[in-house]
Amino acid sequence: MRELDIRDRRFARYVPANAELEELASGFRWTEGPVWMGDANCLLFQDLPRNRTLRWSEEGGVTVFRCPSNYANGQTRDRQGRLIACSHRGRCLYRTEYDGEVTTLVTHHGGKRLNSPNDVVVKSDGTIWFTDPLYGISSDYEGGRQLSEQPPGLYRFDPERNEIHLMADDFDGPNGLAFSPDETRLYVSETGDPADESPRRYIRLFTVSPDGTRLSGGEVFHKVEPGYCDGLRVDEEGNLWSSAGDGVHCIAPDGKLLGKVLVPHTVSNVAFGGPHKSRLFITASHALCAIFLNRRGCAWP
Ligand code: MG
Repeated sequence: MRELDIRDRRFARYVPANAELEELASGFRWTEGPVWMGDANCLLFQDLPRNRTLRWSEEGGVTVFRCPSNYANGQTRDRQGRLIACSHRGRCLYRTEYDGEVTTLVTHHGGKRLNSPNDVVVKSDGTIWFTDPLYGISSDYEGGRQLSEQPPGLYRFDPERNEIHLMADDFDGPNGLAFSPDETRLYVSETGDPADESPRRYIRLFTVSPDGTRLSGGEVFHKVEPGYCDGLRVDEEGNLWSSAGDGVHCIAPDGKLLGKVLVPHTVSNVAFGGPHKSRLFITASHALCAIFLNRRGCAWP
């Protein structure tokens, strides 16, 4: 049985005819933060409430990469290939060096502690962009309840200069983020304040200035339904692959829903991987899933 919901003919070509959704592993508490490590031919992802980062490979299955992870969530790699992770409990971003040492990159903005960095991407100029909602410090489940010292924000961190810049503060809950292939666009998911009766939940579109230091726009780009976009990735043609309540949605650069990969668990995040970056790994509730696509991920995680 094909687990596809095709809304546009283009989407029928995006998934090979005999490719099906695979459940690679399960038994986790809540999976998040997948990132492909091509040089090690493996995927790293989180079992967040269990405070550990896991490694999956075709040959070895699932093994523990790091425990404790300091309640790490979103992950990516910088342009030198080093692993960058968001830490809820540490209220920071940390980087794993080539020798395995862990470097804390950023903990504060304006003299106040960050909340709980959620997701992260690295731009081609080496700057690290991340979201900082309150989700990770609002309960004991994913890092421990702590007091917030500042509003939710979208940040750009320059590791060369050790400078952090607030890029947008008009979010209730900034979450996943991804650049378009040419980096002129930045998509950021707003997942709202869970205490609101109807939380704001949609993907926003920002225009990035040519020098990469400013954002404009920020309008609603697409509303994922059912559910909402937690994490997203962009493919080589600029299509968005977003988590949703019924699986993964593929959205064209003009905002049109092209189709869905239906997943029988709640999806949190996705990442392209495999030797051609054409396999979509899906962290979904207690499971890790994947499906081969006929599209490749954009150049960088
Ligand atoms: Mg997230």
